[in-house]
Amino acid sequence: PQIPAITLNNGVRIPQLGFGVWQVPDAEAVPAVRAALEAGYRSIDTAEIYENETGTGQAVLESGIARDELFVTTKLWNSGTVDWSGEQGRDRVLRAFDASLDRLRLDVLDLYLIHWPRPMHGNTFLNIWRAFEQLHAEGRVRAIGVSNFRVPDLQLLLKEAEVKPVLNQIELHPYFPQAELRALHAEHGIATEAWSPLGQGKDLLAEPALLAVAAKHGRTAAQVVLRWHLQSGVIAIPKSVTPARIRENLDVTGFELDAEDLAAIAGLATEQRIGPDPAGFDWN
Ligand code: NAD
Repeated sequence: PQIPAITLNNGVRIPQLGFGVWQVPDAEAVPAVRAALEAGYRSIDTAEIYENETGTGQAVLESGIARDELFVTTKLWNSGTVDWSGEQGRDRVLRAFDASLDRLRLDVLDLYLIHWPRPMHGNTFLNIWRAFEQLHAEGRVRAIGVSNFRVPDLQLLLKEAEVKPVLNQIELHPYFPQAELRALHAEHGIATEAWSPLGQGKDLLAEPALLAVAAKHGRTAAQVVLRWHLQSGVIAIPKSVTPARIRENLDVTGFELDAEDLAAIAGLATEQRIGPDPAGFDWN
C-alpha cells in the first residue's frame, strides 16, 4: 500500500503510519520488524527503555532496504536519578544517544525524542533539549522532538528552544482525542504523533459504534481507527506482532470516512487516558 507522508517543520518527511515495538522482547523484535518491513512499513518507533533497539536494528539491517527509504525513531529514557544539568547532563545525553545508535547499528538517526517531560523536576528537559540541538547541528539526527509533553511543557520549550520540536508523540485514540494539545501543535507547526493509536486494542476495537462504521465500509475496527488518524492529519504507530494484523493495519488507504462516520467516532471520546498522566510520571 501507498503510505501518505507528512512534511515536518524542518522539511524532513515522515510516513504517516509507522510500526511501534513497545513490549516486544528483543528477540521477537527481529521477526516482528521484518514482517512490518515486508508488509511495507518504512517507519519504526522504538525507545531505549523498550530494550529492543538491537533486534530492531538487526531486522532493519537484514532487510536490505535503502537507508534513505527508512525512518527510525528512538527515545531518550528518563533515568530518574540522573542529574541532567550542566556539562555532565549534556554528556549523559550524548552517551545515551551513541549507545542507542550502536544498538540500532545506524550512523544517523531519523528522529530522537525526549520520552517524558517529568515536570516535577522543573526545567530539566531544557538541558536535555540543548544536547538534542547539538546532535541535530552535528547532523547525527535528522529531526528532534518530544513525547508526552503537556501544554505547559511545550510552551516552556518553545520559549527557550533554538530548534523547534518537529513533533510531540502523545497518547491519542478515539477515547482520548487530545483536542487542546492538537490545537497548540497546529498553532506552532508541530506534528502530532499518536501512541496507543488503537487504544491498546481491547475495549475500543469492540465498540459497537466503531463496528458499525467498519461494517459499512467492509473494513475492521482497527482499520477505521487508523483511517481516522490519517484523516485527522495525525501520524500513527500501531503495534502488533501478528503478521496478518501488521498488514491489516497498513491497508487503510482505500476508503474514506465521511462526516457521519467521523461524528460516530467523536462520540466515543471519554477523555480517559489508558496510559500514565505525564504530570506525575517519573518512573525510571
Ligand atoms: P496500540 O494502540 O498500537 O495497540 C496495540 C495492541 O492492539 C496490540 O498489542 C494488539 O493486542 C492489538 N491490535 C493491534 N492491531 C490489531 C488489529 N488489527 N486488530 C485487533 N487488535 C489489534 O498500542 P501500543 O502498543 O500501546 O502503542 C503503539 C506504539 O506506540 C508502541 O508500540 C510504542 O511504539 C508507542 N508508545 C509510545 C509511548 C510513549 O510514551 N511515547 C507509550 C506507549 C506506546
